[in-house]
Amino acid sequence: MDAILAYAQSRQNEIIALIRDLVECESPSGDPAAVERFVDLVSDTVSSFARLRRFPGDRFGPHLQCEFALPGANKDGQILALGHSDTVWPVGTLKQMPFRQAEGRLWGPGVLDMKAGIAFLVFAVRALRELDLPVRRRLLLQLNSDEEVGSESSRPLTEAAARRSLAVLVLEPGTGLQGSLKTSRKGVGDYTLVVHGKAAHAGLDFSSGASAILELARQIEKIAGFTNLERGLTVSPGVISGGTRANVVAAEARADIDIRVVRRKDAEILDRKFRRLRPFDKRCTLEISGGLNRPPMERTPAGVRLFGLAQKLAAELGVSLEESSSGGGSDGNLTAALGIPTLDGLGAVGEGAHAPHESILVNRIADRTALLAKLLAAL
Ligand SMILES: [Zn+2]
Repeated sequence: MDAILAYAQSRQNEIIALIRDLVECESPSGDPAAVERFVDLVSDTVSSFARLRRFPGDRFGPHLQCEFALPGANKDGQILALGHSDTVWPVGTLKQMPFRQAEGRLWGPGVLDMKAGIAFLVFAVRALRELDLPVRRRLLLQLNSDEEVGSESSRPLTEAAARRSLAVLVLEPGTGLQGSLKTSRKGVGDYTLVVHGKAAHAGLDFSSGASAILELARQIEKIAGFTNLERGLTVSPGVISGGTRANVVAAEARADIDIRVVRRKDAEILDRKFRRLRPFDKRCTLEISGGLNRPPMERTPAGVRLFGLAQKLAAELGVSLEESSSGGGSDGNLTAALGIPTLDGLGAVGEGAHAPHESILVNRIADRTALLAKLLAAL
């Protein structure tokens, strides 16, 4: 059997124990103190074999970089392993969703997205060290504290680290219960449309009012029409609000709109369409803001080559690995947009990210850990 796989299997209980510790240290994006406790925990876990640096996350918790001590020269360029320490789950979620092992799975808030992925990387490093397998490159792990809320604060750090790297391995979950890797992801953006109308008494003075709600309704119909499913382009008004009382013609209404694109060019075309919106009722005015915040991870030859390597290494582990594309964004979008070969979805195999049934498959812990170690040894 593959020596790295044998190592990972023999350490499976330890890997599970680490996943449990990570899950039980809750770390929602909006709670900097909680995220900092999580960063402390990861730091303590790896401090004996990594050089650690923290970076302020502004209103979020700190971002963490770990440069690992690995066998071999580690001189010839850098590999960036990318993850995030934050989750979407508020502190206290563990009361309703305690960490547990049942039905061949581990359950708990953040277990899939992406605490197990972090544990896998730690044990991949330990495998390389304990089996004394030489690694050509330096390995930098970066954990961002604000990925689930758009990575505004971590983005410059991620981009700077990526620019110094030959390849980026993203520890986000794989796709589906097969755990396919992601070689492309849609770009994600949002727009806000605020309509200003003119308030009036709906009974006494109806005609002098200009309804912001009616105007918004017409605009939404138009905006939703920007969707082009064949090009993988979607425009989805997700939240609307407006008006004050039923007997008042509404003076203001707003919509928050999600956009997804496969190609960067489409985002530019879409942006022009948004900027060109004009009111149907000339007495109303429109205020449009927003844009693309994560560029698409487009499927590139270099990314596909990296996938091909992972596929070959997975086959040595007896796993047939597939390629997939995702409608969701990750920090891998940022690194891929810089032209750095990026392979995403290397974390856990499971389902229910951001949902109460969030869980990972226990019988995929060892091979995913081994795959990371083999990639690091091969790159
Ligand atoms: Zn994630």
